[in-house]
Amino acid sequence: MDLLEYQGKQYFAAFGIPVSDGRLVDSVEAAVSAAAEVGYPVVVKAQVHVGGRGKAGGVKLAHDEDELRTHATNILGMDIKGHTVRVVWIEHASDIAEEYYASFTLDRSAKKYLGMLSAQGGVEIEAVAERDPDAIARIWIDPVDGLSEAQCRDWVQAARLNPVAENGAVDILLKLYRAFTEGDADLVEINPLILRTDGAVHALDAKVTLDNNAAFRHDWSDYERTQVRDEREEAAFRAGLQYVGLDGNVGIIANGAGLAMSTLDVVNQVGGEPANFLDVGGGADADKFVAALAIIDNDPRVKSIFINIFGGITRGEEVANGIIAALGRIDIASPIVIRLDGTNADEGRKLLEPHLGAKLQMAPTMLEAARKAVELAGAAN
Ligand code: GDP
Ligand code: MN
Repeated sequence: MDLLEYQGKQYFAAFGIPVSDGRLVDSVEAAVSAAAEVGYPVVVKAQVHVGGRGKAGGVKLAHDEDELRTHATNILGMDIKGHTVRVVWIEHASDIAEEYYASFTLDRSAKKYLGMLSAQGGVEIEAVAERDPDAIARIWIDPVDGLSEAQCRDWVQAARLNPVAENGAVDILLKLYRAFTEGDADLVEINPLILRTDGAVHALDAKVTLDNNAAFRHDWSDYERTQVRDEREEAAFRAGLQYVGLDGNVGIIANGAGLAMSTLDVVNQVGGEPANFLDVGGGADADKFVAALAIIDNDPRVKSIFINIFGGITRGEEVANGIIAALGRIDIASPIVIRLDGTNADEGRKLLEPHLGAKLQMAPTMLEAARKAVELAGAAN
């Protein structure tokens, strides 16, 4: 789950990382009151789940109320990479001497945490990596050992930050590491981490991705509320399904994330466009198929549905019974193509046979089923 900047800053502040005083507002009048509270000059910052807001005109400095009104009016309602700005964050502006970059993430291949630090911040780190790879100091941290202050100091020196910023940076990086590990984040990034003209080191931006698998250990309900999902994703989320909405017309249901991904690939390979990714998971519960089919069939884009099941621990006949029970409970507008393979697939197929017809078809292989589903979707258009 990605946090908005202001949420990331609240999250950082809880770990003692210095951030600017600010207010969240959704109107120009509220922005004016907020600015009076935090004190001019202020920065008006669009709160959307994408980066590069500055370049898109979504971050503006205002020295007085007139400027503030202009910027707040322009930014509220602005479209940034397909995200409409509904709320802006007003914070007291900082006097910047230097801009740095700092982040922690997981390096899966090294099985370690990866810290990245650069004296060239404020711009996209990918651009720095391309232009001047040596400008990024990397540190790999064994999760068991953690990050010591001495290591952290060496790292800051390796990144060649201004010596004036060294103590402040070490302090923030140690706190950022705690925010990353104890907070169960997949990514924490400060860009820019600034050295102010008064010598203080300070987080000016916040990018935080929390690990959804750790949600049970935390109260993330405030963050949950502001997540933007499309309608289909919202319904799937409530039903506890792993679903991602796409733009095509072939609805997909598969058991297992890997098989669901392959199903998308095969549909693409035969010239079709998947409408979604959906993993119903293990088990063969009719309730799950009802929920999955309902979400997919409600999507006006969907013209055919491809159910791709590979029996494993859950046997073919259990899956077949689950699907048959589900179809007895809801009316599905789009034609369905089933491919059933794996454990006890023959038994499952036998159970499905009496139900086959124009609305429910079966194909022996994944490729044939994909072709059939794509053909039916095309015919419906
Ligand atoms: P992003 O473009 O989405 O990454 O948004 P940022 O929060 O990183 O802001 C973009 C840029 O705006 C920063 O790199 C700064 O150069 C500038 N900026 C943001 N806040 C301030 C501030 O308080 N004072 C000044 N002078 N510039 C700021
Ligand atoms: Mn930034």
